[in-house]
Amino acid sequence: MPRFFLTDNNVSGTLVRISGDDAHHVARVLRLRPGDHIEVAFGSGEIGIVELRTVCRDAVEGQIVQRFRSYQEPPLLLRLYQGLGKGDKMDFVIQKAVELGVKEVIPFVSQYTVVKLDSAAASKRVQRWQRIAQEAAKQCLRAELPVVMPIVSFDRVLEELKAKTQDELVLLPYEHEERLGIKSVPVQHCRGVSIVIGPEGGFHPDEVEAARRLGAWVVSLGPRILRTETAGLVALSLVGYRWGDLG
Ligand code: SAM
Repeated sequence: MPRFFLTDNNVSGTLVRISGDDAHHVARVLRLRPGDHIEVAFGSGEIGIVELRTVCRDAVEGQIVQRFRSYQEPPLLLRLYQGLGKGDKMDFVIQKAVELGVKEVIPFVSQYTVVKLDSAAASKRVQRWQRIAQEAAKQCLRAELPVVMPIVSFDRVLEELKAKTQDELVLLPYEHEERLGIKSVPVQHCRGVSIVIGPEGGFHPDEVEAARRLGAWVVSLGPRILRTETAGLVALSLVGYRWGDLG
């Protein structure tokens, strides 16, 4: 059954109204008819079954006939701070990170970032990545729509991490770290994990030390150098296995 993500203004009582691309998809691509059913995600971790009442190309209306809590969201809030990668690497990273349960992807620019984007290009990329996140979330049956944030500087990342290290886990994988692995981080329970992955050129040592001073755990992902688009997914998988709902 196809799944659609709703915002508050789509729902009024038990009535659901979908418009725009999603309405077109229901009417013209899926060719659904009144009486058919679709799944909706309310964004609160709840899922609903909607029986279609009217189906037009630009608007679809239906009645919520079932509403239940989803088990498909991870038990902890996952954020991926991803150093901007070249080409379509970010497309791949965002798609896979959504499948692995990420709630937010925050692309960033640091000292060794190769990609340079002006503000117009940057906001177009973020819009594209958000569409990729939405499609991936529909495909893997997420109950909440992950968000791709605007591209920020590494200084901004450090400011955000400073607030997070109080009650969440911040992990910065670094290929020159030889001792501490994710399985040995001495934290048994956490409600949120932020993972910070460097770009193709990696982190400047000063960037690593700045994050460590804020309370980030600098960790190894193993003895081999992983590509930037591999490293985040490995870290999300290990975190999901140790503290989340993977494996
Ligand atoms: N310095 C790397 C090199 O020599 O090619 C470039 C950085 S690597 C392509 C991109 C990012 O992936 C790194 O900044 C780090 O965050 C992460 N990474 C890659 N391999 C890692 C490893 N074995 N342990 C921890 N982090 C790793």
